[in-house]
Amino acid sequence: MKKKGFLMVISGPSGVGKGTVCQALLKGNDKIKYSISATTRPKRPQERSGDDYFFLSEEEFEKGIKEDKFLEYARVHGNLYGTPKDFVMDGINNGEVIILEIDVQGALQVKENYPNGVFIFLLPPSMSELERRLTHRGTESAEQVELRLNNARGEISKINEYQYAVINDTVENAVAHINSIIDAESLRVINNLSLDEYLKEETYD
Ligand code: 5GP
Repeated sequence: MKKKGFLMVISGPSGVGKGTVCQALLKGNDKIKYSISATTRPKRPQERSGDDYFFLSEEEFEKGIKEDKFLEYARVHGNLYGTPKDFVMDGINNGEVIILEIDVQGALQVKENYPNGVFIFLLPPSMSELERRLTHRGTESAEQVELRLNNARGEISKINEYQYAVINDTVENAVAHINSIIDAESLRVINNLSLDEYLKEETYD
């Protein structure tokens, strides 16, 4: 008999290192699966549907919105992107930890639709360190860095909507903390037991 999995949302301001932390998490734990988004953006040559994204037409996506098929969605640079509910729910029922790496606005939208998720906020060690990381990437102008820092202040003010705050001082530390959260959440009664099956002397994997 399989334990149920859960949805884990990893969020935080731009530049905090969500992508790096999620990649490291995925490498070290084969129970974790990345949520694959749906999009109306044209497929790039090396991309595969169902691997990188589920590529949908505008009509298919709009139909999905009407039928409440997305945990959240947004229009980014003119294309629609969203988190398909079925993919997440199938993974959870299959005992997987589905991770969603998403900005704060998206995370709060997910929380409205699926409050049973585990919501983790990745914090920079300090605002000056966030500024250093954003400047260091070299991809943003000084004005862009200032804009992102201002956005970050607004985003961090939403932290009480989350259950966990993990400081991303080093990737190793952040990953270790998130793995502890996964261990604890896996032991939650709600994620664990079907009492009927347990009382029938079934054993858990
Ligand atoms: P790209 O087209 O370059 O793969 O992604 C463009 C943008 O879409 C990125 O900023 C990415 O974070 C955002 N994005 C990708 N998937 C989703 C999703 O499922 N929901 C939302 N809200 N944004 C997404």
